[in-house]
Amino acid sequence: MWGDEDEVVAAAVHYAWRRLKEEPDPKTGARPAADLAAAAATAVSPQGIGGAAALTLFDRVLSPATRAQNGPMNLAYIPAAPTRAALAFEAVTGAANIFAGTWESGAGAIHAENEALAWLTRLLGWPGTAAGCFVSGGTIGNLSALVAARAAAATTGPRPADGWKVVCADSAHSSIKSAARAMDVEVVTAPVDARGHLTGAAVNEVLDSTPGVFAVVATAGTTNAGLIDDLDDIADACERHGVWLHVDGAYGGAGLAAASVRHRYNGIERADSFIVDPHKWLFAPYDCCALLYRDPAPARAAHSQSAHYLDAIDRAVHNPADLALHLSRRARGLPFWFSLAVHGTDRYTQAVEQTLTTSRQVADAIRASDHLRLVTEPELSVVLFERPGWTAQDYAKWSARAAETGAMLCVPTQWNGATVLRMAFVNPDTRADDVIDVLRTLS
Ligand SMILES: *Cc1c(COP(=O)(O)O)cnc(C)c1O
Repeated sequence: MWGDEDEVVAAAVHYAWRRLKEEPDPKTGARPAADLAAAAATAVSPQGIGGAAALTLFDRVLSPATRAQNGPMNLAYIPAAPTRAALAFEAVTGAANIFAGTWESGAGAIHAENEALAWLTRLLGWPGTAAGCFVSGGTIGNLSALVAARAAAATTGPRPADGWKVVCADSAHSSIKSAARAMDVEVVTAPVDARGHLTGAAVNEVLDSTPGVFAVVATAGTTNAGLIDDLDDIADACERHGVWLHVDGAYGGAGLAAASVRHRYNGIERADSFIVDPHKWLFAPYDCCALLYRDPAPARAAHSQSAHYLDAIDRAVHNPADLALHLSRRARGLPFWFSLAVHGTDRYTQAVEQTLTTSRQVADAIRASDHLRLVTEPELSVVLFERPGWTAQDYAKWSARAAETGAMLCVPTQWNGATVLRMAFVNPDTRADDVIDVLRTLS
């Protein structure tokens, strides 16, 4: 049907190989849609444009209109720093074309994914009976966990008269609100303390006065500031009230691998569900979120799809499709597994520690400088700081200039109502001295 595709396959594989060897260009980025449409023209037409032209179009026009995620000076949002082994295996995973929704079709891949999940399970201090799967990102991971939590609560009694509720802090990720909207449940916000942590006392107070709560969401590494809620005290409150505890570690869950911060996660062994995005701080490419349940039974009950065309599926084995909001899925945990297998978990620990060390060195330099000020004490690898006297426009101008020259990608955020700057370190190749040099340009 497709004629001889050998030439285009070779060209695409060769191109991937070249990209894997190249340093990313920090100056690439979005263009206005009309500008891009004019430059790219139309590739999808009745006749197509052929492999060589399509590949050239991607290389010259489309790819340069995307931001490189893995430069060592990309400190904006939460960047990514996949190992090259993981990136290469992303291509291998694609070539293998595995349906990894069910054991029957994807057993070998699912076995490997489960091995990677088992490492995370051990870091959590959970029993070996815990189980989970990889989903596209923290947003779907959080939604899937909350759907399981509500289903578990629904087995204990009727729907509360004024609906189900989920408790979290204001510092929780926006995806919790989005999940609540999709589930038509109410979000009850508990206040954080002066350190910016959700505490057990605050959760207790809300649970005492609010009927119909099916889950509490604590964050292990808030996206904006990298803070870890008081997990052990929150677990106490949840246990007392018989409420499901979900821990969102999309960014910060990686810190479980680092002895220097592991104590901050105490209590996480008592959570009912947990997510971490290996595409954030565990050196895997997009899109990859590990979703884990301490006891997978309620998740299975909540998520298994049934239909006559699925009757042949063996439900006695581990089917990732039964544990989240998905059915068809690629084995997106394989690049993470491969990288872990190549480098070993000790190297992973060292790499996470390296980024923490870099964050501390940069934070120390800010503390010691006379023109900059830390606005919170960093707990993980997010550093929030300000240049006293600067306005939001000053920050925006500086940030745009640093991005334009490729010196550093560092964008402003808000902290306690004020505009500040934020750096997120997830790349073990980022050098503190290079960052400190660029920060001098804020004077
Ligand atoms: C990034 C993030 C999410 C969302 O994850 P996606 O993979 O972008 O969907 C959820 N929670 C926290 C704490 C995050 O940092």
